[in-house]
Amino acid sequence: MVLAQLGGSIARALARMKDATVVDEKVLADCLNEISRALLQADVRFETVRDVKANIKTIVNLDALAAGTDKRRIIQKNAGSREAGLHPSKGKPSVVMFVGLQGSGKTTTCTKYADYYRRKGFNPALVCADTFRAGAFDQLKQNASKAKIPFYGSYIESDPVKIAVEGVDRFRKEKCDLIIVDTSGRHKQEAALFEEMRQVSEATKPNLVIFVMDGSIGQAAFDQAQAFKQSASVGAVIVTKMDGHAKGGGALSAVAATRSPVIFIGTGEHIPDFEVFDVKPFVSRLLG
Ligand code: GDP
Repeated sequence: MVLAQLGGSIARALARMKDATVVDEKVLADCLNEISRALLQADVRFETVRDVKANIKTIVNLDALAAGTDKRRIIQKNAGSREAGLHPSKGKPSVVMFVGLQGSGKTTTCTKYADYYRRKGFNPALVCADTFRAGAFDQLKQNASKAKIPFYGSYIESDPVKIAVEGVDRFRKEKCDLIIVDTSGRHKQEAALFEEMRQVSEATKPNLVIFVMDGSIGQAAFDQAQAFKQSASVGAVIVTKMDGHAKGGGALSAVAATRSPVIFIGTGEHIPDFEVFDVKPFVSRLLG
């Protein structure tokens, strides 16, 4: 089930609740069951669905509804509270570390993120701390040059922590206000990768760690995101490849595993194919 279909199912369930003359236990339970079914069909883990259901029950206070409180405002307020992420300050250095498995779109997304903030007047820079994949530095260099963003890396140094620290130090001295550290990925989750993420994070003390995930990975996103969260404290999620036939379920699982919001989505291979993930229009659309 793609995101739009999932949205459609949830919208229908909410519309039915909105149209009900009286919102009682039964109407709420029917609505929640319908939403749960849609989420499960969208590949969301059972445990996540159970948590979402419990959260909505807490949010939708039936007594308050009976007293005439505006349902729409209650739902919008609570869905909107997930909005967060880093708000970097111009002129003050922020370090942002990107983590994710190989192929998730991490390197491409680092450049998109840098370009997004440069257009907003920041002075970003990219550090390639991926010493695992041959060609990683060349790829970052190529992307960064295309976007005219300064970069740092090495063809010979094999210690990712050393490169990360050197790069961050150099760009701090150069008064860059958004220093983006791209890290290694692996084809699969493995202990060495997470240990490396822990070390890079400890050495560079990032203001924000962003978990990058391929939008089509489905339920696997939960374990992946949780494992990264344990090694570097992930504070935001970026979902890539949303231009394809991506399902929405994986993103929700990553949000649940990291207790962090989705801040951007990748919508193509090119630098401008990048959008702010805004939950409000999404919720407004659901509520009609
Ligand atoms: P990394 O191994 O995680 O650093 O991933 P890369 O940045 O090398 O990306 C892997 C592949 O995914 C490349 O071919 C990218 O062009 C592609 N890619 C990255 N983001 C997107 C996206 O949002 N949409 C599409 N269609 N492709 C993407």
